[in-house]
This record gives sequence, C-alpha cells and structure tokens, in this order.
Amino acid sequence: MIYKYIRFVLDLIYPSRCPVCGDFIGYTDDFCQKCRENINFLEESFDIQYSDFSMSVCIYDENISPAVFTLKDKGGNAPYAFAIGISELIKKYLVSEHIDFIIPVPMYKSDKAKRGYNQCELIASEISHISGIPHKFNIVFKIRKTPHQKELSKNERKSNLKNAFALKNPEKISGKNIILIDDVCTTGSTLSEISRLLKNNGAGKIFCLTYCRTDFLKLSK
Ligand SMILES: [Zn+2]
Repeated sequence: MIYKYIRFVLDLIYPSRCPVCGDFIGYTDDFCQKCRENINFLEESFDIQYSDFSMSVCIYDENISPAVFTLKDKGGNAPYAFAIGISELIKKYLVSEHIDFIIPVPMYKSDKAKRGYNQCELIASEISHISGIPHKFNIVFKIRKTPHQKELSKNERKSNLKNAFALKNPEKISGKNIILIDDVCTTGSTLSEISRLLKNNGAGKIFCLTYCRTDFLKLSK
C-alpha cells in the first residue's frame, strides 16, 4: 500500500511511460494497452539444468525488445513493468512454495560501473516491493568478464562461464529456496551455472524466472 503511494507521488514528478513506445501510462500500469496486446506471453515452463522450475513471462521479439533497451539504457518504467510480470509468475506457479529470497543475476563490476546499475537488481527490488519476498545482492558475484553467450558455440558456452561466478557468505544459502532473476534468458547457461553453484553450496530449491526468453525452437532450426 505504501509502495503504491510512493509510485503515485513519483508519477506526479516523473510521469510513468510505457517502456516499449514511451507513451504516458497510469502509475500502476506496466505497458500501454496497445503494446501490452502485442506481447507474446508464454504459458509453458522450460528446463534449465540444476533449476527446479524455470519460466519466462514472454518471448523475446521485436514487440518487447524496445523495453529491454529501455531497461539497459536508463531503466525508466521497465524494471517495474518486468517486476509486475515476474511477480505474476510467482503468484501463479510458486504459490505453494516457501521462498526465502530473490537473487538477481550479477554483473561484472566494471560492466555495472559502466552502466551505472545492474538492471536485474532494479527488477529484483521492484519484485520485493510487490511480493514482499526479500532480495539479497551480496551472495552471488561475477568475478570474471565473459564474452556474450550468444556469440559462442554450445561447447564454448560451457567453458565460458566456468568459474565466472562466486559466492560470498555461502552459509546464508544453506537449505534456502531461492528465486534467480534475469531480464532475458538467451541460452539458459548463465542461470544453469548460478543454480549449480548455489546447489553445490547447500541451497534448497532454485526457481529461475526471467521476463523474456529467446524462442528456443526457432534458434535450433
Ligand atoms: Zn506502449
């Protein structure tokens, strides 16, 4: 309730805009109606190794890609819009699970400094406001810069992420059920590698939720 009030006041100063087309929208809206109708929402989960459940809100295509650009450019209303969609997944698919906390996919520190923020942290913060599930930013760290996964072959992708992530305070994840958050799932390798790291260090269940995912079926053609 307080959060809605904060958004209402912020909207008076910085009116909310649709993260796809930039039109003004209501302060509780994620997208304008027209852009929302064009989003290709998903109904099915998919498999990611070491993850107990993986799901995305929609297919990554030209209808949603401007919002991903907004998210990585200045952020705008995109973190909130993406958090609304992911919070709906939590309500719909994980309602019977006990979730201890949310962890965003980390960025390498120089990449984060260049952008000024980690967009996944912004999304995770918004999800915490909406769902009441706390987030933790001080558990998983990216300790090595890696080339983009989509530029590599399947075998290169596996070795590319080897030892790219590390845990701090591993005792904090012992037996904990964790939601891992990313904006876009391209190959699933990053989420799988972090899930593996968390499970090998004693985490309970891992749920990987992302806003978009590439169309795997089209990719394999
Ligand atoms: Zn729009």
